[in-house]
Parts: sequence; structure tokens; C-alpha cells
Amino acid sequence: MTKKELLVKCPTCGHKFNYHDSEFRPFCREKCQLIDLGRWLEGDYAIPCSDPIDEAEKTDNDNDEESEN
Ligand SMILES: [Zn+2]
Repeated sequence: MTKKELLVKCPTCGHKFNYHDSEFRPFCREKCQLIDLGRWLEGDYAIPCSDPIDEAEKTDNDNDEESEN
């Protein structure tokens, strides 16, 4: 019986391990899988939204028109 062996590098920690030995491939262990998942979630929340700044400028212009009356 020959055991398959494929050395791969973990994308999270860079540690080399046997691909067929890990339950969490392509990561070497559960911790590395969770770290990678956390990076994905943080990336989603990091998208900036510039719309509220535009609305604040519009409110400023409205005040100007009122003072002309
Ligand atoms: Zn790892």
C-alpha cells in the first residue's frame, strides 16, 4: 500500500505539509483556515461609501437659498 504524498505550502503561514494529510486543505491546519476566512470578511466591510458626503453638500446649498428671502 502506497500512501500518496504531495507537499504543498500553506497560503496562510507558508508551512510545507502533506496535502493528503490535512483535513483543512489547502491550509495546513484549522487555525490557518480560520485566519484566511477572517481576511475575506474584513475585506467586505472595508469598502468605503462616499454617498453621505454628497448629501451633506446639498443641505448646505438649501440654506443659502433661504437667506435670500
Ligand atoms: Zn498554515
